[in-house]
Amino acid sequence: MPSDATAIVGELSRLLGSEHVLQARSSSPYNRDCSNRRGIEGHADAVVRPGSAEEVAAVVAWCYAHDVAIVPRGGGTGLTGGAVPTHGGVVLSLERLREVRELEPGLWRMFVQAGVSTRDVQRLARENGLFFAPDPGAAEQSQIGGNVATNAGGPHALKYGVTGAWVAGIEAVLAPGELVQVGGWAGKDVAGYDLKSLLIGSEGTLGVITAVRLRLLPAPEAALPLVVFLHTRADGCAAIEAVFAAGLRPSVLDFMDGETLRALAGSYPGPPDAGIPSEAGFALVCEVDGSLEDARAQRAALLELMSGTGPAQAVHEPVDAKALWRWRDGANPAVTAVRGGKVSEDVVFPLERLAEGLERFESIASEHGLRSCAWGHGGEGNVHATVLVDPQREDELDAAEAVGEELFALVVELGGSIAGEHGVGWHKRGRLESQWAARALELHEQIKRAFDPKGLLNPGKKLARYPARSPATSTERNAT
Ligand SMILES: Cc1cc2nc3c(=O)[nH]c(=O)nc-3n(C[C@H](O)[C@H](O)[C@H](O)COP(=O)(O)OP(=O)(O)OC[C@H]3O[C@@H](n4cnc5c(N)ncnc54)[C@H](O)[C@@H]3O)c2cc1C
Repeated sequence: MPSDATAIVGELSRLLGSEHVLQARSSSPYNRDCSNRRGIEGHADAVVRPGSAEEVAAVVAWCYAHDVAIVPRGGGTGLTGGAVPTHGGVVLSLERLREVRELEPGLWRMFVQAGVSTRDVQRLARENGLFFAPDPGAAEQSQIGGNVATNAGGPHALKYGVTGAWVAGIEAVLAPGELVQVGGWAGKDVAGYDLKSLLIGSEGTLGVITAVRLRLLPAPEAALPLVVFLHTRADGCAAIEAVFAAGLRPSVLDFMDGETLRALAGSYPGPPDAGIPSEAGFALVCEVDGSLEDARAQRAALLELMSGTGPAQAVHEPVDAKALWRWRDGANPAVTAVRGGKVSEDVVFPLERLAEGLERFESIASEHGLRSCAWGHGGEGNVHATVLVDPQREDELDAAEAVGEELFALVVELGGSIAGEHGVGWHKRGRLESQWAARALELHEQIKRAFDPKGLLNPGKKLARYPARSPATSTERNAT
């Protein structure tokens, strides 16, 4: 095994050419991802940027033969430290794999390399009259390979499902360095165990995705937004359940609580002369889609449900849908600005326990002396549970950590999940232990060993169990 980073760089340069192999200085962006807001950082021995699937296979084969860890990296927008080289080794960036191998609008599908950005996949589909529904928030920077590796969600996952629902097949490099196709264009395929689905959401711990076969849909003719303001979170959660009970199927049913609404009040792009009602304690940000006629009918039904019989305080039909979504995407920076920092966790409550989950989360935060807020994808009970902190105050960061622990316990108690769409990565390693039965955990670990007997693929990430929970290091305690 090469003993140091210089030797690794030298060996890999022989495979890829020296211009595509970097020695990662401590300031290198490849040592972190968007979780660096929490202070998660690593240090790579080398960064490689292969230009083809065959070169990816050659890198994996070399690393596997020499016991060097491999950390696959997409756009680096992950929020749990999944792409951070916490154990050193080689960061394998897919950024040069940007080829669109097939685009067949008549068959509603495309076959793209892993490094194509999410936005380009969406754009290509749209330019051909089609629709790629998954819409995670950092689409300009995130890559389709990263989206598949995290099984990314987004607002439209309510109606259309998460990324994995649109994956027909995957090309991946599996240990010890073989290029393999799983799934494909067959309309139905029940022949073997579903290896494709094991790779979806595996966060780089089972293989390196080099290309993805994606199914698309004809683009809906119209997508119409609606914003519903309610007095209380109980009213809001009851309204979400009422939508399903009425048989309505919005494409988006997001929510914001009162504190989030107050942070965003100044920029609300509602209809002319209609701001956020002063007493609003909860809002639903909805969208319905389909043919224009169908979308209008759905919106009328939703309006009737919310304003006719429901407890809504006000229902708005914003004119500028794009401005509305920009406003909704501004929740993160807006709440951060309140105290200069925040610590956010992505969790899920079963729908019928959402109101209880939100209320108890607020109480937990308040018992620890912190203000909190929450927003997310209400139709799926997916909550970005957030505490507002002064990032310079150690006591508040300690309290935020304690709130997180109690939140995860609460989620498990109520039958939810510790991760809704941002994955487990490094930040939530070992937490599955509280959620799954022992036998299921064992199988999780056996699957990892079957794919990666030497444990070199993204070591330390997505661990089901963590032997002894180490206290967070000081670098993991920051908040923006
Ligand atoms: C502002 C913002 C908004 C966001 N909104 C959403 C949202 O709405 N929904 C959502 O689900 N997420 C969201 N995210 C999180 C993030 O964008 C997603 O997790 C995204 O799918 C990560 O893609 P990436 O290409 O950036 O992957 P990276 O961050 O580079 O990697 C993520 C994980 O996938 C692995 N990986 C990456 N590429 C590959 C590959 N080719 N083969 C094997 N493993 C690979 C990495 O090892 C790592 O474990 C948001 C993030 C930000 C910063």
